[in-house]
Amino acid sequence: MAGAGKSTFVQRINSYLHSVDSPPYILNLDPAVSHVPFEPNIDIRDTVNYKEVMKQYNLGPNGGIVTALNLFTTKFDQVLDLVEKRAETVSHVILDTPGQIEIFTWSASGAIITDAVAASFPTVVAYIIDTPRTTAPATFMSNMLYACSILYKTKLPFILVFNKTDVQPYDFALEWMHDFEAFQEALATHRDSRDSEGEPTYMNSLMNSMSLVLDEFYKHLTAVGVSSMTGDGIKEFFDAVEASRGEYERDYVPELERAR
Ligand code: GDP
Repeated sequence: MAGAGKSTFVQRINSYLHSVDSPPYILNLDPAVSHVPFEPNIDIRDTVNYKEVMKQYNLGPNGGIVTALNLFTTKFDQVLDLVEKRAETVSHVILDTPGQIEIFTWSASGAIITDAVAASFPTVVAYIIDTPRTTAPATFMSNMLYACSILYKTKLPFILVFNKTDVQPYDFALEWMHDFEAFQEALATHRDSRDSEGEPTYMNSLMNSMSLVLDEFYKHLTAVGVSSMTGDGIKEFFDAVEASRGEYERDYVPELERAR
């Protein structure tokens, strides 16, 4: 989600990898970002000017971003060639996706790019969460449903990154993920959980049932807490990335081979 700290996180993992003498190769796929706090090796903004695309095709901002991404995707084989050449010397490739996440996860171009990358390299999705802004049970659940939709769309190993732990520890999230009764308890005690007659509201009952569904989803993913501001937890994030490599080989590659 915008403001979750995605760019700051990419900058942080970039500087971490530099500090361990393993500089990454970075791709910026957001045509509309005005400033990134790192130097991407490949930048969609060098290929397409989304404001020009908006003008030329008479589109609004979202249409402009999707079209810019579509135009870039037509050349993605060349991008992949460049990445493949660098892969011999580089241990990590980072792809920073557009700020409006649905543009990437639910567009044909996003799927083409993700599938192409995942067919060539062990790939993991990192979903960045604004921890201080997800402490209300309803917000937490919407965020997890969003993550869930991306997991099932990409079928790739998936890491939930609870960011901004310097402001808000993420233990509440871990507790809710490991113990759905604790989540239901938080729901029941949260304001708005009961109507004027003291009955649970429709939303409350719905979320109660959905927490059981999400319980299954939580089993398939890893959660780490980080502060992109201080660097706390970044090493643990890379441990999770390393562990995902095994998951990729075990679960994703056989699927890929079956599809071929
Ligand atoms: P993006 O829109 O997801 O790319 O978010 P940004 O990286 O631009 O960050 C949004 C805001 O959150 C900025 O003001 C950042 O300084 C702040 N921010 C990002 N990560 C952290 C963090 O770990 N801790 C704190 N306290 N603030 C952060």
